[in-house]
Amino acid sequence: NNERHLVVISGPSGCGKDTVVKHLCKEHPDIEVSVSATSRQPRAGEKEGVNYYFLTREGFEQKIAAGEILEYTEYCGNYYGTLKREVDKRIQQNKTVVLVIEVEGAANLRRMYPECTTIFIRPPSYEELRERLMGRGTEDEASIRRRLARAVEEMEYAAEYHYVVINSVIAECAEEIYNIIQQRLK
Ligand code: 5GP
Repeated sequence: NNERHLVVISGPSGCGKDTVVKHLCKEHPDIEVSVSATSRQPRAGEKEGVNYYFLTREGFEQKIAAGEILEYTEYCGNYYGTLKREVDKRIQQNKTVVLVIEVEGAANLRRMYPECTTIFIRPPSYEELRERLMGRGTEDEASIRRRLARAVEEMEYAAEYHYVVINSVIAECAEEIYNIIQQRLK
């Protein structure tokens, strides 16, 4: 079943989902992550085409109009969206594609691909999440506050996912996700 090769992962900002997915893809080359487009500014160290395709708001809107975007949303004031070609090219190569997207995008994907695999990553606790967001140093105070408020909202959506995993230890969380994917593909 092709749709099961589509894996949607969500989790609140700061839960470590990008690190977990990076680990997962490194350990398992048959799994690749789809690189999204965004209108937010790159953080220090982020690379074009690796972390995101960075676009202006106008550039993003042009891609929507051209039908190049599978799903998109506005999150904390910026556009984020999945590019069709990112997913299609990997499905054609028989790869398992991971989309790391927020809860609204995940709900849209589930409507489009009812058989896709959905996984929600929870932080061990709210306190831990707050510490990670502050310690990361990538966000200013206002943005941290917005992201924490959004995290509380997002946590309510966990029950809508096929699986919920807790990220305490990165490698363990990544293996748990790998095992889930293997189960779904059987
Ligand atoms: P960040 O700014 O921390 O990189 O991402 C903010 C949120 O946007 C995260 O929850 C991230 O998973 C989500 N996100 C990233 N790319 C996409 C996308 O293509 N579509 C949707 N719906 N959300 C995305």
